[in-house]
Amino acid sequence: MRVLLINCLIFISSSVLAKTVTVDNVRIWAAPDSTRVVFDISGPVKHKFFTLSGPNRTVIDIKNSRLVKINNQPKSQDKYLKGIRSAIRNKNDLRIVLDLKKPIKHKIFQLQPNERYGHRLVIDLFDTEIKQVKKDEPRKEIKKDTQRPTKLRDVIIAIDAGHGGDDPGAIGPSGVYEKDVVLKLAKNLAKDINKERGMRAVLIRKGDYYIKLRNRIMKAREHKADLFVSIHADAFRDPRVRGSSVYVLSKKGASSEAAKWLAEKENSSDLVGGVSLENKDELVASVLLDLSQTASLEASIDVSTHVIKGLRKVGKVHKRSVQSAPFVVLKSPDIPSILIETGFISNPSEEKKLSDHKYRKKMSLAILQGLKGYFRDFAPEGTLLSLRKHIIERGDTLSTIAQRYQISANRIRKYNRIKGDLLRVGQTIIIPRNTDT
Ligand SMILES: [Zn+2]
Repeated sequence: MRVLLINCLIFISSSVLAKTVTVDNVRIWAAPDSTRVVFDISGPVKHKFFTLSGPNRTVIDIKNSRLVKINNQPKSQDKYLKGIRSAIRNKNDLRIVLDLKKPIKHKIFQLQPNERYGHRLVIDLFDTEIKQVKKDEPRKEIKKDTQRPTKLRDVIIAIDAGHGGDDPGAIGPSGVYEKDVVLKLAKNLAKDINKERGMRAVLIRKGDYYIKLRNRIMKAREHKADLFVSIHADAFRDPRVRGSSVYVLSKKGASSEAAKWLAEKENSSDLVGGVSLENKDELVASVLLDLSQTASLEASIDVSTHVIKGLRKVGKVHKRSVQSAPFVVLKSPDIPSILIETGFISNPSEEKKLSDHKYRKKMSLAILQGLKGYFRDFAPEGTLLSLRKHIIERGDTLSTIAQRYQISANRIRKYNRIKGDLLRVGQTIIIPRNTDT
């Protein structure tokens, strides 16, 4: 009888112990428009949360849990988070309090283990208002006027470094993270682009934090990007596989995305190619969307071809033709988008190369060459790159120049404010691209 009781006690205490989850570690990833707090937990937990004001704070209660220690506090410049503290409640439960700098929205969820981390409890903090793309402003201004536009704009290239924060991406054999090398390469590429006249880069991710895939597209739209370039480094189970490749959106990915845009058109304030799908007849909307997607895809294939040409000068190219896949970040219907796998980080020699800043510099210049080649073919109207220069040589007349560039003599005359037909040898004139006539 006594023995039985002891056995019973042991059973109860061990079952209580088995249920106790430990919170071992906290990581904080601050992004410009959100902060992610990640708690490493020894297993799935039951949690509740609520917010309090005056002062603002978020309270998370975790059942049957014990904190090892809070080993991290937010940086003073964190936009949302002031501090993290904890206390034991009802003997077995843990209360975690996030002290906030202002009222915020938040999302709390648990993540399953991945190759890098175990179970996690994640809290995303972000602003209560989310920026919307303006409804009544077309994304690209189309000038029908043949007069010289007063101000020519730069082409805008959105550069998206893959992964980030708690998502390391692929991991090389000696422990190099994809998220780190692609961010360095993206920053390098942005710097190279910004040195070019008529081109401007926008970095979608600037630091070590994660951005949801759809939000990467949104950010590119907010910046009115003319081109979206996502940078990654592949991994494969066979470490011998190496080389770079370039992807565009697959037909299947495009059609499923079209269905999504059409389904959402009623409440979408977004624009496709400068046209709102809202209040459009179903058929008209689908035709407009299809036209826009087809044009973007053609442009994406063109830019990929140019980039592959550039990459072949740097090293081995894994696939010489443009690849297609239903990657979410490539799904903008009206922004030509490509994804560059810069190499296989799972290959020891490519892991080493991607970690070397000299190699990344070479790769960045090769990608830039590709982008420049593309904009020679597809410079959007109203941009500095859409102009060509012609220096007048002996024998040139307005009509021979017009013929050569397949444009009307009158348009050249108006654009350059030339009176009559008088040209001077050595004079530079500008030939507008012919896309708006
Ligand atoms: Zn990746």
